[in-house]
Amino acid sequence: MATVLTEPKSIQALIKQTRILIGNKWVDSVSGKTFETVNPATGEVLAKVAEADAADVDLAVKAARKAFHAKAPWRRMSASERGKLLHRLADLIEQNADELATLESLDNGKPRHVARTADLPLVIACYRYYAGWADKIQGKTIPISGDYFCYTRHEPVGVVGQIIPWNFPLLMQAWKLAPALACGNTVVLKVAEQTPLTALRVGELILEAGFPEGVVNILPGYGPTAGGAIARHMDIDKVAFTGSTEVGHLIMKAAAETNLKRVTLELGGKSPNIIFSDADMDHAVEGSHFALFFNQGQCCCAGSRVFVEEKIYDEFVQRSADRAKRRRVGDPLDQNTEQGPQVDQEQFNKVLSYIDSGKKEGARMLTGGERVGDRGYFVAPTVFSDVKDEMKIAQEEIFGPVMSILKFKDMDELVERANKTMYGLAAAVWTRDISKAHNVANNVRAGTVWVNCFDVFDAAAPFGGFKQSGIGRELGEYGLQQYSEIKTVTVKL
Ligand code: NAD
Ligand code: MG
Repeated sequence: MATVLTEPKSIQALIKQTRILIGNKWVDSVSGKTFETVNPATGEVLAKVAEADAADVDLAVKAARKAFHAKAPWRRMSASERGKLLHRLADLIEQNADELATLESLDNGKPRHVARTADLPLVIACYRYYAGWADKIQGKTIPISGDYFCYTRHEPVGVVGQIIPWNFPLLMQAWKLAPALACGNTVVLKVAEQTPLTALRVGELILEAGFPEGVVNILPGYGPTAGGAIARHMDIDKVAFTGSTEVGHLIMKAAAETNLKRVTLELGGKSPNIIFSDADMDHAVEGSHFALFFNQGQCCCAGSRVFVEEKIYDEFVQRSADRAKRRRVGDPLDQNTEQGPQVDQEQFNKVLSYIDSGKKEGARMLTGGERVGDRGYFVAPTVFSDVKDEMKIAQEEIFGPVMSILKFKDMDELVERANKTMYGLAAAVWTRDISKAHNVANNVRAGTVWVNCFDVFDAAAPFGGFKQSGIGRELGEYGLQQYSEIKTVTVKL
């Protein structure tokens, strides 16, 4: 493994903001506490960041509520002006894309060139897509019975609490902020404790773009404290959460026990990736490798149950193991690196314990299984064959570079097994047979189905889960609905 580039001076120059953003001011936490964010490639501390808790959430909600007042600048601003602000933010992110990609790589561990060519373009496109929507969010006129004029207004929900994870820090911030702001809401955003730095830098760009005071408030802090305070807050109208299914349950419970705030959730997955024997083998092997190992395996939609038709099973297993062996693991700042470290010690330990359980339950490990190097949280790309449906590695979300390959005989058996999970986020099918492809697409219980491709994302295409993978959709026009209230107005003529 190559040595990790660390030039402490240039790293420190990149970290421009470590405080909390409330009411367009950068502040320390009420408690004065800070926490450390670590470079997962080295285990070294990158920065101390202000630690928000309930008292800070309270101040942020007050600022967001004030900004939501009918007479406040944000509410008096025209819809097209809101769109212009979002466009300006997209431009500023684009101008700072190199710096943001490096910072994302340092804080999260993902290869810098991947952040620059995958994450950043999607982030910028998301802000631009919703900038375009801002002045196209409109109601209907409805021909009700009697002498009345009836119409609907699509109004913002109000103060929105948003809680995001660490696997795509910039992108999850964009998926949350862009539709909420396009609709005219104000926001209290809690970023993941593992990866607070890029969200805070974007906070500076939000001020530079000229968003009015209190419209966007950004709080770094821990889940049970700051996150819990958002979920329970009586003056937050809606909470949008992305993360584990376990915490999704807690968010919904907190909403139910307090003010019935609206809840949207984007949670975990155990997505089936199905390879028929008539598939283009080269594409299927490479596509399935990407589907699982992309982002160090830390994707909610990772193709983590690879179902392969009996006839080609042995060949597919061999070729997938060979490809995984060739995967270049190392310094995230090196242009040739395909895979960086897991995000932190906790995730690293969790991934290794799943590998252990795969071995104990009798799956066959063809490659990987151990750490790479002697510092940082690098895990060797790991491939298991002979995986059975009931094994833990086929049931639970590993969120790491561990591929589980299962065997199937025919379509009927396959669809049933593919659906035998509490999750329903995504699925993929690889085949040259158009009816097989549509058969799977129709019958698999998942919010997204990819045919002969994987991880194709676009701001215009909705994304979200069936079953315990979530509630609601993000992106596209559907994403807007989650940030609006419909008001019906009836006028006697
Ligand atoms: P998590 O669900 O605990 O964290 C996600 C976000 O929720 C973070 O901002 C966290 O601070 C916050 N949070 C945690 N507990 C909270 C609480 N009680 N109330 C309010 N907010 C809370 O995820 P994790 O612990 O970082 O990772 C655990 C597992 O979750 C991973 O191994 C993976 O399986 C899954 N995960 C899924 C996604 C996804 O994109 N769907 C993202 C990250 C993690
Ligand atoms: Mg957690």
